Amino acid sequence: MTTAPPVAHLFDALSREVALVCDPSGTILWADGRAESILAAQPGQKLRALAAQGTEEKVDRLLLQARDERVEGWELILCRNGERPTTFAFTAQAEGGQLALVGSLVPEDYGASLGKVSSTLSELAALHRETERQQRELQRRTEELQRVNRELEESNRGVRSLHAALDEKAESLQRAAEVKGRVVANVSHEFRTPLHSILGLSKVLLNPLNGPLSAEQEKQVQFIRTSAEALYELVNDLLDLSKVEAGKAVLRHTHFEAGEFMRALRGMMRPLLPPDSTVELVFPDAPENMEMETDEAKLSQVLRNLVSNAVKFTERGSITVSVAKGPRDTVAFSVKDTGIGIPPEYHERIFEEFIQVETPLHRKVKGTGLGLPLARRLTEMLGGALTVRSVPGDGSTFTVTLPRVHPEVKEMAGLSERAEKLDPAKAPVLVLEDDRQTLFLYEKYLERSGFQVLPVRSVEDARRTVQRVRPAAMVLDVMLEGETSWNFLAEMKTKEETRDIPILVVTITDREQKARALGADEFWLKPVEGTQLLRKLSELAHRGPVERILIIDDDEVHRYLLKQLLKDTPYVLMEASNGLEGIRLAREKAPHLIFLDFLLPEMTAFDVLDDLKADPRTRDIPVILQTAHELKEDERTRLARETSAILAKHTLSREVAIGRIRDALSKAGLGSRLEEREVRRG
Ligand code: ADP
Repeated sequence: MTTAPPVAHLFDALSREVALVCDPSGTILWADGRAESILAAQPGQKLRALAAQGTEEKVDRLLLQARDERVEGWELILCRNGERPTTFAFTAQAEGGQLALVGSLVPEDYGASLGKVSSTLSELAALHRETERQQRELQRRTEELQRVNRELEESNRGVRSLHAALDEKAESLQRAAEVKGRVVANVSHEFRTPLHSILGLSKVLLNPLNGPLSAEQEKQVQFIRTSAEALYELVNDLLDLSKVEAGKAVLRHTHFEAGEFMRALRGMMRPLLPPDSTVELVFPDAPENMEMETDEAKLSQVLRNLVSNAVKFTERGSITVSVAKGPRDTVAFSVKDTGIGIPPEYHERIFEEFIQVETPLHRKVKGTGLGLPLARRLTEMLGGALTVRSVPGDGSTFTVTLPRVHPEVKEMAGLSERAEKLDPAKAPVLVLEDDRQTLFLYEKYLERSGFQVLPVRSVEDARRTVQRVRPAAMVLDVMLEGETSWNFLAEMKTKEETRDIPILVVTITDREQKARALGADEFWLKPVEGTQLLRKLSELAHRGPVERILIIDDDEVHRYLLKQLLKDTPYVLMEASNGLEGIRLAREKAPHLIFLDFLLPEMTAFDVLDDLKADPRTRDIPVILQTAHELKEDERTRLARETSAILAKHTLSREVAIGRIRDALSKAGLGSRLEEREVRRG
C-alpha cells in the first residue's frame, strides 16, 4: 500500500462527491467528510431526513432497490438541515447487510445554477453599468439644458434689448425722415418765391421794351436766368420727391383714354426739340379705346421726365414713345431712344437720388439727378414699376408698366360704397383723413366693432356728410392736402347742433393746445393703434344724451335676451315685470321708448296702452309691441294703430331691434345723434 501523498487533504476541498453507508432501514452508519460538511449528515440520522421536502419517497425507493441490485444515477435532492437543496446522482450497492452510497453533484444543475447566477450577476452588472451611464447622461443633459437655458435667457435679454434699440432707432429714423421731409418741403417752398422773382425780373430785364441792355449785360442776365431756371427745376423735383416720400402726395384718379393722353403728351413734348433737330420724336398710334383710371397728371409727369432725359442724351436718331397692353390688365408705356445709352453698372443706380452717370459724354449734360428717382416713386404710387434696358452707344428704353385701373380706385370705390350704406346696427364715425392708407387702416380697425367709418378726404366732404348724417364721433386729421381742418373743428364745436359730437384730433405735429382750445375732446399724434382708437371711441361716443328704454315683460328670460341684444348701444334699459309696474316706471322715469310684451299677467297689453295714452306724461312715448303668438286680425289692426312697430319675439335680432328703435324714436321726434339718419329699415 502506498502512503497518501501530501496534497491528499485537498481531496475534500476539490471533490464534489459524498459517500454514505446506511443499514437497510436507511439509518446512516457512516458519512464521509464532504457528506458531513455539505449535508451535515451524521451517523444515526435517517437518510430520509436529508431529503428535500416531498422527495422522501424517492429515498425509500432507492434503499429498497439497492438491496437487490446496484443502482446508478439515482437523483436525489438533499438538503443541509432542511435548507440549500442540492441535486446528487447516487450510485448505491448492498453488501453484508449494509448499503454504500456515493452521490455526485449533478453537473448540469450545478453548471446551470452557476451559469444562471453568473449570467444574472453579469446582467445585474450590465444593468448597473447602464444605469450609471444613463445617470451620467442625464446629468450631462441636465447640465447642457441648464447651459442652453442660460444662453437662451441671455439671448432673450439680448433680443429684447435689441428690439428696444431697434424700436428706438426706427422711431428716431421716422422722426428724422419726417423732419427732413418737412424741412425739405418748407425750404423748397421758401425757395420758390424768390426764384419766381428772379425769373420774372430777368425776363423783364431781357425785354427790349424795358430799355436796352449792353451785349455784356444781356449775356449776364441770360446766365442769371438759366441758373435760376435750373435751380427752379431742382427745387420742384425736391419738393415733389419729399412729398412722395412723406406719403403726402395725393393720388387723384381720373378716367382717360390712353390714345388721347399720348396725343396730349406729344403736344407737350414737341417743343423740346428745335425745328432743325436731327432727332425725330415718334409717337406710334396707341391701341384704340384703352380706357385708364389712374392719376393722369402723375403718369404724364413720369413720361415727360423720361422723354426729356431721352432728348438730353440723344444727339441723332429717334425717340419713340409708345403704349401697349401689358399682361394682367396692365398698360406699358415706353420711351426708347437711340442715344448714348447707360453702362450696365448704372442700370439700377440711376434710380437713386443725385446719381448721374460718370462718363465724359454723360457729364456734358447738366441735370439734378432727381428726375429718375422721382419718376420711379411716382410710378410705384401708381402701383406700377419703372425699368430700363440700355446698351451704351445704342440707346436706352425706359418702360413704365402700371395697372390700367389703379388698385385704390377699386378699393376706394368699395370704401365709399360701404360708407353710403349706413349700417343701422353701427354708430357712424366720420373720419377726415386725406391719406387713403390711413383710411383703410381705420376701416380695418373698426371693422368688427359697433362703429362704421364714414371716410371723407376734404373739409368740404366732411361738411357735406355732417349735413346728411349725424356722426357719433369724428376723427380729424389736421394737416390735409392743401388745407387744415382747424376751422372745421372750431365750426363743429361752436354750432349748437354739432357741439356735443365728440371729436378726436389725430395729426403729425404736436398742436395739442390749439386742438384742445378749439374744443377737441382728444388729441393724438399719429400713428394711432386699433385698440386705442376703439377704446377711446367707445368712451367718447357713448357719452352725452342717451335714450332710456323701458321693457315691460313678465318673462325674465326674454328681458334678459333683449338686454343682451342691446348691449353696447347707448341705450339705458329699465325693466318692469308686469303692466302696473311698467306704467308706474313710464310715469316716473319718462322713458323715450317702451318695449311692451303682448301677453302680460293681470293686465293685457291693450290695458297698458290705454293707460299710457290716458296720461299726458306718457301719451307720446312710442311703444314697440312684442309678441310670441300670432295676432288675430282685429288685434293686429288695433295694435298697428297704437304702436310704432310689432315685433315677433322669435325672430328678433340686434339689427331689427336697433332699426326699429331708431325708426320709432325718430318718428317721435326724439332722434338723437344716433337716430338722425336717413336710413330706414324695411
Ligand atoms: P438728371 O437727368 O436730372 O441728371 P435723372 O435722375 O433723370 O437726373 O437721371 C439720372 C442720370 O441717368 C442722368 O444724369 C444720366 O446720367 C442718366 N440717364 C437718364 N436717362 C438717360 C438716357 N435716356 N440716356 C442716357 N443716360 C440717361
